[in-house]
Amino acid sequence: MSGAPLVDQFGRTIEYLRISVTDRCNFRCQYCMPLEGMPWLPKADILSYEEIHEVVRQLGPLGLRRIRLTGGEPTIRPQLSRLVAMLRGVPEVEDIALSTNGVKLPQLAAELAAAGLDRVNISADSLRSERIVQIARRDLGFEPVAAAQAAEDAGLGPIKLNVVVMRGTNDDEVVDFARLTLAHAWHVRFIELMPVGQMESVTDAHVVPSEEILARIRAALGPLVPTAGPARGNGPAAYHRLEGALGTIGVITPMTHTYCGSCNRVRLTADGRLRTCLFGDHEVDLRTPLRAGLPLEPFVRQALAEKPEQHALLSRRNGGLRALSQVGG
Ligand code: SAM
Ligand code: SF4
Repeated sequence: MSGAPLVDQFGRTIEYLRISVTDRCNFRCQYCMPLEGMPWLPKADILSYEEIHEVVRQLGPLGLRRIRLTGGEPTIRPQLSRLVAMLRGVPEVEDIALSTNGVKLPQLAAELAAAGLDRVNISADSLRSERIVQIARRDLGFEPVAAAQAAEDAGLGPIKLNVVVMRGTNDDEVVDFARLTLAHAWHVRFIELMPVGQMESVTDAHVVPSEEILARIRAALGPLVPTAGPARGNGPAAYHRLEGALGTIGVITPMTHTYCGSCNRVRLTADGRLRTCLFGDHEVDLRTPLRAGLPLEPFVRQALAEKPEQHALLSRRNGGLRALSQVGG
């Protein structure tokens, strides 16, 4: 191993790995997965926890510092806390976060925290139960505020709530979500819909630009002051605060701005492919060398050499948009 940090051809240092632990999910969100017929990965193709740990162990000395477990829905993979504990044992890793739809958090938050998880992002597109079922197309009794509270009580803060805004579906709730920051030290982040799903309600016409979201909140709740946001894991979000609020309001704007210039992340798919850009087809197979007992560094460096300067989502030049559940969001 050279041990040199992972820097791509555009000078971006890679220190953040998003790990998809499963491609499966207990929801079928309109913008993410078809209701039926997802081509699930065969179990034998999915990396074991030991294999995921080995990837992280080898990347630690190359500069990996932050991990996010995602999916699919990571909490439906059995014994997720066992993986968390294994990754916690990698000395270079400073921060382990989880992206979840929150359904299982009331049940799992304490166990995940005890295993060494630092924090969670919870996806919650509505505060109304009938609408949650309409968007997620599964009735699992999800209660976003209870899930966030359970995570906070377990010490998994700062809590971030991610809301994908869809015109005509949940855009009338942005003010209700923003209001949560008055009473809770939570970070509510509105994400511009990326029209990659297969539903009629997931098209360019359903994207609500972040400026419009913020304007609606200002009109209802008063001025928004730009702020630094949560201490850890800001990523590509711009934050604001309502007067007197405990939490912040963030916007993530893949459709109206790109963050590619400061991108510090790569993704590991559930079947062991290193993906250097969320959109695009730049993937390098790590599973084969991993299972052959080969060092991964040359394969990782090869992947980085091919990391594109920016994604082609806006111009749609990439051709093959995969659902985010397949690439880890
Ligand atoms: N199941 C977990 C969850 O929902 O948080 C983790 C995986 S999910 C693919 C990660 C994130 O991608 C979620 O916040 C989800 O809302 C977001 N996402 C999925 N499809 C999207 C789309 N078409 N546009 C914008 N965000 C999307
Ligand atoms: Fe599942 Fe998350 Fe995709 Fe919804 S956004 S279908 S919860 S993976």
